[in-house]
Amino acid sequence: MPAQGELVTVSQQPTEVDVAVVGGGIVGLFCAWRARERGLSVAVFEAGDRDGVAWPVAAGMLAPVSEAQFGEHGARALRLGLAAADRWPSAARELGEASGIDPALRESGTLVLGRDRDEAEALEREAAHRERLGLPVTRLRPSEARRREPALAPTLRAALEVPGDHSVDPRRVVAGLRAVLGDDVRPGAPAVRVAAGEVELASGETVAAGRVLVAAGAWTGELLGLPVRPLKGQVVRLRDPSGPGLVTHTLRFSHVYLVPRADGRYVIGATMEERGFDTDVTAGGVYELLRDAFELVPGISELIVEETLAGLRPATPDTLPIVGEVDGVVVATGHGRDGVLLAPLTGDLVAGLLTGAPDEELLALCDPARFDRAGAAA
Ligand SMILES: Cc1cc2nc3c(=O)[nH]c(=O)nc-3n(C[C@H](O)[C@H](O)[C@H](O)COP(=O)(O)OP(=O)(O)OC[C@H]3O[C@@H](n4cnc5c(N)ncnc54)[C@H](O)[C@@H]3O)c2cc1C
Repeated sequence: MPAQGELVTVSQQPTEVDVAVVGGGIVGLFCAWRARERGLSVAVFEAGDRDGVAWPVAAGMLAPVSEAQFGEHGARALRLGLAAADRWPSAARELGEASGIDPALRESGTLVLGRDRDEAEALEREAAHRERLGLPVTRLRPSEARRREPALAPTLRAALEVPGDHSVDPRRVVAGLRAVLGDDVRPGAPAVRVAAGEVELASGETVAAGRVLVAAGAWTGELLGLPVRPLKGQVVRLRDPSGPGLVTHTLRFSHVYLVPRADGRYVIGATMEERGFDTDVTAGGVYELLRDAFELVPGISELIVEETLAGLRPATPDTLPIVGEVDGVVVATGHGRDGVLLAPLTGDLVAGLLTGAPDEELLALCDPARFDRAGAAA
C-alpha cells in the first residue's frame, strides 16, 4: 500500500489517493485539509504559474452583513455567508495551532460610510434592509464614526457600524494551509483533463483517485465546461512606515474599501471588470481606488505603495458558488467576491459530500444542476 499522499502512477497501482484535488487555492486547500481530517488521503495538484490567481490579491473581508444584497439570490448568499462567518473563529484558531501561522483574524468590525447626500440615502436603505433581516447594524452620526476612526475626513455624511464583519489575511491563511498539508500539495502540476476517478497532468502523467475534486478558481470552466468566468479586480496595497493605527476598522464606501492589517499594511480595493483573463493593472484603476480612499482617509497619502495587482474572481451568473457533483467529479468553485469568507464552509461541505454525510440544506444553495452546461440557468 502506498503511504498517505504518496504518488504512484496508474500503471503501477489503480488508485493511489482517495481524493485528487485540482487547484491549490484557498478553496482547494481548505477542502483538502477538511477531507484529510476525516481520514481521506489527498493530493493537491497546483498549477503554480497562473497570472491572476485570486487569493493573493483578496482583501480577506469576512463581510456577509455589509455585502447583504436584496432579492432571492441575496437571501441565499446571506444564508451561506452567515454560516461561513460562524465557522471562521474556530477555523482560524485550528489552522493557527496546526500550522504555527496565525491567519490574522481581525475582529474589529466594519464601518460602511456615505460621503454625500446620495450615498447617505443609499446607506439608510441598506440599514433598513439589514434591520428587517434582523442583522446587527448600528447607525452612527459622523461625529461618532470619527470618534471610532479619527482619520476619517470631516466631510463624512453618514455611517453604519457592522460589528460582526471581520477580516483575515488570505496570504497567511494559504501559507498555513500549505504548511499543514505539506507534501500532499504538488506545486507546478497543472491538470489538463479531469474525469471521474482520473486526472491528467500537463506532464503527461495520469493520476487515479477514488474521487476527483476540481477547485481551480476562474479556470474551472476550462476543465469542466461550467459557467464560471473571471471577474477582474485591481487592488493597491499600502504600508504605513510608522506602524499600525491609522485605521482599525475595515472601511467601506461606495465601491471601494480599505482593510487594515495588524502590521500597518492596508489593502484598498477593488475594481470589478469584465475583461476575461486580462490581469493588467491600469493607471485608471489605481487612480480611482486611491482617489476614493484618499477622499475619506486623507492620511493615506503618507503611506508607501507596496504593490498594485489584479486578480480574477471565479464568478457565476447568479453570484452563488457551485459546490457539488458534475459527471462524477466533485467541484467547488464560483465563489466570486466571497471565496475567502466561504472557504472553511466549502471545505466542510465538500468533506461531508466525500464521506457520505452531505449537508443537504446548504449544498442545495450551491447545486451545479441549477445551470445547464452552456451557462444558462437550467
Ligand atoms: C481584488 C479581489 C478582492 C477580493 N476580496 C475578497 C474579500 O475581501 N473577501 C472574500 O471572501 N473574497 C475576496 N475575493 C475573492 C476570493 O479571492 C476568491 O473568491 C477566492 O480566492 C476563490 O478561491 P479559489 O481557490 O476558488 O480560486 P483562486 O484563489 O483563484 O485559486 C485557484 C487555484 O487553482 C489553480 N489552478 C487553476 N487551474 C489549474 C489547473 N488546471 N491545474 C492545477 N491548478 C490550477 C491556480 O493556480 C490557483 O492556485 C477577492 C478577489 C479579488 C480578485
